[in-house]
Amino acid sequence: EAKQAGRAQSCFYQPKMHERVVQRVYFETSLREALSKEQFSLHYQPQFDVNKKLVGVEALIRWNHPENGLVPPGEFIPFAEESKLIIKIGEWVLMKACQVKADWLKHDAFRDINMSINVSALQFSQDNFVEQVRHALDQSGVNPNTIELELTESMLVNDQDDVIRKMQSLKALGVLISLDDFGTGYSSLSYLTRLPIDQLKIDQSFVSSFSEGSRESTIAASIINIGHNLNMEVIAEGVEQQSQFEWLKSQGCDLFQGYGLARPMPEEDLLSLLSQ
Ligand code: C2E
Ligand code: MG
Ligand code: MG
Ligand code: MG
Repeated sequence: EAKQAGRAQSCFYQPKMHERVVQRVYFETSLREALSKEQFSLHYQPQFDVNKKLVGVEALIRWNHPENGLVPPGEFIPFAEESKLIIKIGEWVLMKACQVKADWLKHDAFRDINMSINVSALQFSQDNFVEQVRHALDQSGVNPNTIELELTESMLVNDQDDVIRKMQSLKALGVLISLDDFGTGYSSLSYLTRLPIDQLKIDQSFVSSFSEGSRESTIAASIINIGHNLNMEVIAEGVEQQSQFEWLKSQGCDLFQGYGLARPMPEEDLLSLLSQ
């Protein structure tokens, strides 16, 4: 993945295109095209419980660019946000992930596996967001209890009452709500008591630079405590080392995701991993 990312980057940032405006127009045009030509795909990164049993996956978008190969989201999501195309892209992700998850019912091994889906703040702020989710659930026939929406603290800068209303409507649909990149936002902790959140996802910055006794590890342990005291499940992202896994497990962390356990992979690879 890193190699492909590097290749994509070197192609996009040619000297003649270094001006941001040019780049933006270029990206917007090709992102629009990507949508209409279905150049996006989803990869899936496994999530494990304390016994390293695979219990869920996070859907992560990839752009299969005709010339530049597989482009990681970090290179186009910012432009997609700026151009508001993230709304349409997010709708596609939602629909696709629900359909794929519904298809997995054919495979016994997949029955209880959760599907986590990233939602951008702009997508969430749309008036019809709850309708979008309802539509994806209805169309796919997926069990809502196996769908987890990953939201970020950044959406809390918007009208808090609106955020609460929406989250409550989503809960009424039966889906789960996770707070992604937890600990990196600017919001106060008081919202945690007001919002129907099922899961906290410890940001990888507190996990990957971890060493026992470090400030990061102290924060990670505190997040686990906060989550559990509020009856939330806690997942760590960016788990790269066995020692990180062991320590987080000793602190009571419920779920684990990271390169040290499994990388994001296309659906075929996940299917063969699960049938092993
Ligand atoms: P995220 O939601 O926090 O996803 C986790 C990112 O960390 C993924 O990068 C994943 O590949 C990477 N990662 C997982 N384990 C490790 C690890 O052990 N070490 C390191 N260094 N990284 C790890 P990816 O796939 O490049 O996605 C980056 C971000 O792009 C995501 O961060 C998310 O914010 C955004 N994104 C991805 N897919 C979507 C999507 O469908 N919709 C929206 N709105 N955003 C998306
Ligand atoms: Mg995420
Ligand atoms: Mg995250
Ligand atoms: Mg992150």
